[in-house]
Amino acid sequence: MQNELLNWFYLNKRNLPWRHGRSPYRIWVSEIMLQQTQVKTVIPYYKKWIKKYPTLNSFKESKFDDVIKMWEGLGYYSRCKNMFNAAKLIKSSFPNNYDDLIKLPGIGDYTAKTILAIAFKKNLVGIDTNLERIGYRILGLKTKTKRNQKRVIRFLEENQCTKNPGDYNEALMDLGSSLCKASIAHCNECPLKNICKAYARSSPTTYPTPKASKKIPIYDVAISVIEYQNKVLITKRQNTKFLSGLWEFPGGKIEKNETAVDAIIREVKEETNLTISNPVFLGNITHKYSHFGVNISLFKSFPKSIKTLNSYREHRWIKLKDILNFPLPKANHKMLDILKKLN
Ligand code: SF4
Repeated sequence: MQNELLNWFYLNKRNLPWRHGRSPYRIWVSEIMLQQTQVKTVIPYYKKWIKKYPTLNSFKESKFDDVIKMWEGLGYYSRCKNMFNAAKLIKSSFPNNYDDLIKLPGIGDYTAKTILAIAFKKNLVGIDTNLERIGYRILGLKTKTKRNQKRVIRFLEENQCTKNPGDYNEALMDLGSSLCKASIAHCNECPLKNICKAYARSSPTTYPTPKASKKIPIYDVAISVIEYQNKVLITKRQNTKFLSGLWEFPGGKIEKNETAVDAIIREVKEETNLTISNPVFLGNITHKYSHFGVNISLFKSFPKSIKTLNSYREHRWIKLKDILNFPLPKANHKMLDILKKLN
């Protein structure tokens, strides 16, 4: 298996920016950015990041506000916070063993093994869903069970290339992303078809049996651009698990039996202690995050007075044209599109 796979890899490997000028730090940055995120989305973020923070030491000296601004739009913001905290915990050089790496925030089994295999040539295989799928298909396993999972791990580890563990990892990654995809398998071009049971049975994409897709809840939310003397109010999300450190317009969930107008008046009062009346409806946005979606009713409103302003969050009055200087959740960018069209 190794020879066929590596020969194919050397002819077909993807030219990715993190495959140049390698260091454990750069591999770490790329692996964290790639979690739940497509390669083509990550590439411009990675390039920008490495330009600003080319080494671990340069990243260690960064300020969190600058770092999260750079992450803006990449999603799953806890990854950024974990990286920032992890960098501060690394004393001198980047950890080169599993036990130290796994203790760092945001580094799990897959990331630790991948960094060790690629950067330190350790005989480990980082197994994510792509590699796991290849294992299930080669072994012809349909059902996802703990036992089958162990068989896949054992198979991929036993076939590890001890001379080039990093190349072996990356070859499997490239195979999973280019030929052996979840819903399409290009078996004719695959270097492993001779040993692949799913191929022999002519139904590779049914291995492993795909999970029925989960429905995610959609929440109705009301948000208002609050304007006062040509400035708008933004507040910072802090100490939240979700989107922490990002700025947004005030608002929140619409309660049961509440209209969007009633909700925005209540939410603004609760969040800022401002009283608004007659909010003007500007438009509607839907946006999906990983575990839920939001259906946002966007309003514009004017406070009767700002003397009462008292928010438990950090807040600023800013000119709307300056808003892109602040890191914003993706849904807020959609709101800016509505505002742009109105102006
Ligand atoms: S032969 Fe097909 S199913 Fe098997 S590993 Fe290759 S691409 Fe995947």
